[in-house]
Amino acid sequence: HFDVELRKVFKVFKGETAVRGIDLNIHRGEFFSILGPSGCGKTTTLRLVAGFETPSAGEILIQGQSMNQIPAYRRPVNTVFQSYALFNHLTVWENIAFGLRLKKLKALEIEERVKQSLKQVKMEVYANRFPAQLSGGQQQRVALARALVNRPAVILLDEPLGALDFKLRQEMQVELSNLHQDLGLTFIMVTHDQEEALSLSQRIAVMRGGKIEQIGTPTEIYEHPHTPFVANFIGDTNSFKGRLESGDVNSIEIVTANGLKIVVEPNPGEEIIRSQEAVVIVRPEKIRLSLTPPESKINCFEGRLRNIMYLGTHVHFIVELLSGDRLTVMLPNTASKLPDPHTPVYAFWKPIDCLAL
Ligand code: ADP
Ligand code: MG
Repeated sequence: HFDVELRKVFKVFKGETAVRGIDLNIHRGEFFSILGPSGCGKTTTLRLVAGFETPSAGEILIQGQSMNQIPAYRRPVNTVFQSYALFNHLTVWENIAFGLRLKKLKALEIEERVKQSLKQVKMEVYANRFPAQLSGGQQQRVALARALVNRPAVILLDEPLGALDFKLRQEMQVELSNLHQDLGLTFIMVTHDQEEALSLSQRIAVMRGGKIEQIGTPTEIYEHPHTPFVANFIGDTNSFKGRLESGDVNSIEIVTANGLKIVVEPNPGEEIIRSQEAVVIVRPEKIRLSLTPPESKINCFEGRLRNIMYLGTHVHFIVELLSGDRLTVMLPNTASKLPDPHTPVYAFWKPIDCLAL
């Protein structure tokens, strides 16, 4: 069976439903993320698994056992909170031993467990330091060690990197991923940061308004979003509302309000959606730009460059089409000289590189 299962779980606070019927199956050893905007119910979901909240309806199982009657302290899970919440006046060793002392474990048992968890996160030599004498990455390791002393099967992380600046965050992501691989435990992470979820997770659940909108691997979620919400939440998109004009199993043609005729082709094995009203989604990195007309006229539109943003590895363009629509385009930085704003260009993309939802 699965390591963690949620079956039709609801949580109603006074006058407000935070979680509305969530079903989740998380595998043993998986790095699973719950991703969504602020207030969509991520923390509540995590707290339900931890046992800090009781479900209003539904059931949570951990390693096949129902948790409905099991209090938080007896569940095989441990939470790592945002910014680690270490005690600054205690050494690394004492930070890790703290919870075990509260549980009144024997001194020898505490000694053994603290030693083992320090070893698991490779922090043995820092046992006598205080948190302020550690780097961000080392603090993260101590926070994890503090969860590991309880020998949990599942580690819960609530926006663990939320408070860090960009550079440190990227380093911590690599650290966290390495720790997950070394420990072989199930990680469930909550985040509102799409890049963090994409880079760390084996699977992601995208939440919206207390419900799960889509579950999938990072590539499935990014390349094949099921709804415009998921598409827009995960990365930049160009989206066009339109009407289905014609189509067969190989491709459909959609005409937008501004008269753009867009051809959409399904990926192999993917069924194409054929509703009268459709939203066409094109990722910025799928669009090509050319100063001269490209060979194919399909999904090719004339316009002018409006904004050019130099990003080092990439260049970000806003293109205003003759139709009035604006496109966001992201190209690898290969040119030695950037074009001028207002340069006339052709913007184009392949029918297989866009989606109809
Ligand atoms: P997220 O972590 O995705 O930002 P939360 O799970 O914290 O979202 O909150 C989801 C919704 O439930 C919010 O509207 C929030 O105000 C509400 N909520 C969370 N905890 C409580 C509580 N203890 N009492 C009342 N409402 C709450
Ligand atoms: Mg939260």
